[in-house]
Amino acid sequence: MTGAPPLLQMALRVEQDIFVLRQRGREVAAAVGLEHQDQVRIATALSEVARDLLLTAGGADVAFSVGFDVVAGRPVLYADLAPVRPLPDGSYQPQSGAVARLVDMLGVVAAEGDTVVRMSRRVPANAPALTPERLAELRAELGSTAPGTALDELAAQNEQLIAALDEVRSQRDELEVLNSELQETNRGVMALYNQLTEELEETNRGVVALYAELDEKSAQLRAASESKSRFLANVSHELRAPVTAIIGLSRLLGDSASDPLTAEQGRQVELIRSSAGDLLGLVNELLDLAKAESGRIEPDWAEVDLRALYGQLRGTLRALATRPEVELVVEEPPLPATVRSDEVLLAQVLRNLLHNGLKFTERGEVRLRAERRDDRWSLSVSDTGVGIPPALHERIFEEFYQVPGATRVGGTGLGLPYARRLVMLLGGTLELSSEPGRGSTFTVTLPTGGA
Ligand code: ADP
Repeated sequence: MTGAPPLLQMALRVEQDIFVLRQRGREVAAAVGLEHQDQVRIATALSEVARDLLLTAGGADVAFSVGFDVVAGRPVLYADLAPVRPLPDGSYQPQSGAVARLVDMLGVVAAEGDTVVRMSRRVPANAPALTPERLAELRAELGSTAPGTALDELAAQNEQLIAALDEVRSQRDELEVLNSELQETNRGVMALYNQLTEELEETNRGVVALYAELDEKSAQLRAASESKSRFLANVSHELRAPVTAIIGLSRLLGDSASDPLTAEQGRQVELIRSSAGDLLGLVNELLDLAKAESGRIEPDWAEVDLRALYGQLRGTLRALATRPEVELVVEEPPLPATVRSDEVLLAQVLRNLLHNGLKFTERGEVRLRAERRDDRWSLSVSDTGVGIPPALHERIFEEFYQVPGATRVGGTGLGLPYARRLVMLLGGTLELSSEPGRGSTFTVTLPTGGA
């Protein structure tokens, strides 16, 4: 129900009234704020329905009013056509099915006890507000304007038709413009796609080339490393015989059975012998390292008894612990003290670490421990010696590297790289934690079940 009094009322009795109704309908629609298109729609629907009612019910009383929709409270324009004679079957079906689509709603409703044919169209949100004052104003305005003649309405209808045609044409033009824009865009997208594909292929080619180069470089690196190991192995092997001969000969020279030497000669021969001894040590270590690097050392896997191994190290290294201020402590490994490993290689590693500990510790202790955690053994050698600055923790594992300064006490700088190689062969790791002045701890971690 619309509530407020109608904006405009008129009677539909003869054919000419159809034109008037059409014209007035458009005026009302314009007055409440419907857009041009909607004005034409409602005017057209009105004239169609009016024609039907004139035929079936002898005409109608028409009332235009504004109501507000229940949900959004938005204004809606209603046109109620109360038939002069009751509608056949009390219902109404427009002759043309398309009429219903011109408005939001078209159908028969009961209004104030009567059956009316009602159509409605929502007023757009941007239309001026339809306050009761504004509605009263509109009512007055619409009442004062006189309806035009049928000819006027025909002219108006023609104008509308031309405008509608123009609109259709302009829409078609717009569509053409849109189409050509779309084609343009498509061409652009295709060009972009082609460019991207090309760039991708280019990048792929680059990556492939890079990989090939990388493969080649690694092969070169491998070859270089192999030839270095071979060279070291050959040189040290070749050097061993003459160096051993020098040691033997110098020992012979100093022997009491040989011709006596002057004191100075004796001192020099002893110097030769000890230098040759150092050289032999270096040659042997080089040979070991070269062998480990070239993969020519095959661990002899067996169940190793750590307690026996530790006992043996305790015995052999005691001879090296010559400083009374330094105690060598070998702890008893916890049971079950077994690990699958190569006993000789493992002993070599631990001996090397203990030897270093004793070499670089002036007072305190050097301690060998064994700890088992889950399926790993941690075998650690810790000392209370000079310690190593953190920045050099990795460098001391490089061949020939020795920490510079007053702490140098002979040696070759090959012991730790060799030890690490061996531990890797045994499937473990060799790590260091140390700080200058606070001693060092080297830890060999091994899987209990071997590599
Ligand atoms: P070398 O002992 O024959 O010099 P290594 O490879 O065994 O060769 O050790 C390299 C260097 O690492 C040593 O020269 C020494 O400077 C440092 N280093 C090794 N072990 C210790 C340690 N326990 N305490 C302090 N410095 C150490």
